[in-house]
Amino acid sequence: MLASMQPRGFASSTALTEEQLRDAPVRLPAPARLAAPLRVEGARAQQGARALGLHTVADLLEHLPRERREARAVSELVAGETATLVVEVRRIATRAVRRRGMRPLVEATVADHSAALRVTFFNQPWLVSHYPVGTRLILHGKADGRGRFTVQGHAPTDQGLGRAPQASIEVASRPVGVASRAADATAPSAPVGSVAHYPATEGLSSTQILALVQQHRARFDDVIEPLGLAIRRRERLPDRGTALRAAHFAHGAQQAECARRRLAFDELLFGALALMQARHRRHSAAGVSAPVLDGEAQLSARWLAGGLPFTLTADQRTALAEIDADLAQGRPMQRLLMGEVGSGKTVVALYAMLRAVEHGLQAALMAPTETLAEQHFATIQKLLGAEPVRAGLLTGSTPSGRRADLLGKLASGQLSMIVGTHALIEEAVSFQRLAVAVVDEQHRFGVSQRAALDAKGAPGEAPHLLHMTATPIPRTLALRNHGDLDQTTLRELPRGRQPIATHVCSTEAERERAYARIREELAAGRQAFVVCPLVEESDALQARAATAEFERLREGPLRDHTLVLMHGQMRPAQKQAAMAEFACGQAQVLVATTVIEVGIDVPNATVMLVEDADRYGISQLHQLRGRIGRGEHASLCLLFGRRDSRRLQALARESDGFALAEIDLELRGQGDLAGTRQSGDLAYRFAEFPADRELMERAHLLARAIIDADPELELPEHALLRAALTGAQGGRAPEPIRA
Ligand code: ADP
Ligand code: MG
Repeated sequence: MLASMQPRGFASSTALTEEQLRDAPVRLPAPARLAAPLRVEGARAQQGARALGLHTVADLLEHLPRERREARAVSELVAGETATLVVEVRRIATRAVRRRGMRPLVEATVADHSAALRVTFFNQPWLVSHYPVGTRLILHGKADGRGRFTVQGHAPTDQGLGRAPQASIEVASRPVGVASRAADATAPSAPVGSVAHYPATEGLSSTQILALVQQHRARFDDVIEPLGLAIRRRERLPDRGTALRAAHFAHGAQQAECARRRLAFDELLFGALALMQARHRRHSAAGVSAPVLDGEAQLSARWLAGGLPFTLTADQRTALAEIDADLAQGRPMQRLLMGEVGSGKTVVALYAMLRAVEHGLQAALMAPTETLAEQHFATIQKLLGAEPVRAGLLTGSTPSGRRADLLGKLASGQLSMIVGTHALIEEAVSFQRLAVAVVDEQHRFGVSQRAALDAKGAPGEAPHLLHMTATPIPRTLALRNHGDLDQTTLRELPRGRQPIATHVCSTEAERERAYARIREELAAGRQAFVVCPLVEESDALQARAATAEFERLREGPLRDHTLVLMHGQMRPAQKQAAMAEFACGQAQVLVATTVIEVGIDVPNATVMLVEDADRYGISQLHQLRGRIGRGEHASLCLLFGRRDSRRLQALARESDGFALAEIDLELRGQGDLAGTRQSGDLAYRFAEFPADRELMERAHLLARAIIDADPELELPEHALLRAALTGAQGGRAPEPIRA
């Protein structure tokens, strides 16, 4: 019986502590005890506990210290100082008090390695038996500088886990991932020891919470273990009860890290399970199937073989193969295609659409703006070449006669392919049979808009969906936000793409030099973007600033050239005219706010100057920069801002958007450490990024395997997991966080 029990605790099996031996006899976990209400002495403390959300014993065990602080050495105490000490009781006794009605005082002498101290406890005569000589205590209070200490909070330190810093967590094998992190942690266990600091309130101090946890420490054995031994062994994780216990009492960085890793794994696993369960339910919802597109490739094959003016990159070929496999299934594809501007997503999307067309079905592509929709339509027509595919463009400015014609042909099936904006999801639009829908810049659409497109399938049927984004998302965020989508990444830019040299400019001399470089490029027949200073207060102010910059350049540094202005306060037609003027080369310089569309393709533009660049995020700057380097000429990006900006330095150094996205996350991650975690970039309690990237991948793999085998967690071996998941998530998938 005992032999088959799961390993618990940190001590290696050969060296059980006395207490563990005492606890070892057949005592099965009784999770019900965790649900018991938490009893706290005193009305104020009770109120404090409630304010902290500590209603049950389980709440208490899950209420983890925010940090550990080194205790003060007694010999270093300064008069009037409030401090936390770790001491041992040398002598303890009650002393009667004269005043009537008062309980006896408890006086004790305590000491650490440095000095001894007299302390007095009021109103708690039972402490004499609670804290016999030799007990190690944490004391929080105020020193008077004359060898006395007024105690405000006290708790025994955890003895069961021992002071032995060599104790290591019992994981089924070597703790993976600990070594690297523990190496850079500061050396643990100065002689006085560290003290856990809990989130506390006025009524309930950190030390009181510690005392409560001590009081309930036997309950760690009742913590539900949702993961089976085989999984824990494979993932090299301690059991959850042990991890929680260690999070409270860990001695040393290594234990603490091993515990954190387990709790982070649970957090990531539950998140992934919830996402994948939601996805599974969507797929298996009554009657929702998708057209099976597994017929012979004719049109698409012909097009691939002869219609393209270039050869596909390896990433593009992989994407096509993945899409092929998805489309051949009777359940709707849900794939996210990530690739930077210029990585060739349109070709991939068009392929998926052609697969629908060659099955006699229909395809749609929805873009967030008219400009983008028009560009897609033009690109698609160009890419299709001579292929006889009937395609149409539908946007908000499609004339009503034309619109009626398009809607009629969509409904009858005469039209195979439609490109458009939100206009596509209007009520009046219906398809004969929509098989493939592509959503470009998917993050710019709301959930309901994507659902509306989904609903354009034939009755009881959903189209295959391909979501596209040009925003490189770090793998961790992609899993966190889109873990319910299959993911394909186009990393490799098509050959022939020119590198963009990027420089940070800070001085006046550099500004003069930058304008000189722009004039050189213009003289050589190239074109330039100037991105105006960012004014956040209002669009109107921003527009005024852009106009002023436009005037300044036109009369100053760029007076011999033709400039055109574009900003957010202009009407769509005006913006379009400005853009067209620049695109056809009539204007040499486009002075603009960041309204420049993501998809703008002017291969002749080779310079971009960004004012106030350090006010933009890394990804935004990278997106902006993606509008140059699209032709046959080398390009130059000039970022004006502080030379010591790490973001600007990263941009100058890196050209790969995914690498930049990782750096961005890392820089923001450091901000988290500085206490801005609540900024909401990554709402995790335990997981840390980018350090836990691999852990996240593993959690997702496991979640996928579990949901594939047992989507509703109905198998007996998943019963505890299901219970934990319901408790952890309230059964919901985590809210997506936008990168
Ligand atoms: P994205 O939509 O990802 O920004 P596009 O699909 O619009 O990229 O492609 C950008 C440009 O690169 C287009 O002009 C396209 O024809 C071209 N292109 C796409 N794939 C390749 C390739 N494999 N080799 C060369 N050029 C390509
Ligand atoms: Mg595109």
